[in-house]
Amino acid sequence: MKWWEDICTGCGLCCHQKTRIGRRCYLLDLDGRCGHLGDDGRCLVYDKRFSVCPSCRKMTLPRAMFASWLPPSCAYVAWAKRHHIRFAPDCEWVFSSGSGM
Ligand code: SF4
Ligand code: SF4
Repeated sequence: MKWWEDICTGCGLCCHQKTRIGRRCYLLDLDGRCGHLGDDGRCLVYDKRFSVCPSCRKMTLPRAMFASWLPPSCAYVAWAKRHHIRFAPDCEWVFSSGSGM
């Protein structure tokens, strides 16, 4: 569905390693990025990403609604909130030091 994929801004943040701290907080490790993520934040293997990257996750409506591991800035999180169907708690996100963010 093109309209669904078009929601993504291509920020690439969901392609970095994430670690849960406690119950509601995530650390996003910007140094630990997927090896298929290009410098421009775009996936270099987009069409075959699920076959070449076992940890790659398809963005689905349920994930937009419930996945707490999505960065708060994710466009799907914003979209779900706009439609009043975002049910994951707002986690406090901590970015790794030296990330420039
Ligand atoms: S393979 Fe998946 S996790 Fe890796 S850069 Fe592409 S979309 Fe992101
Ligand atoms: S965090 Fe959201 S907007 Fe950014 S690349 Fe991932 S799915 Fe797209």
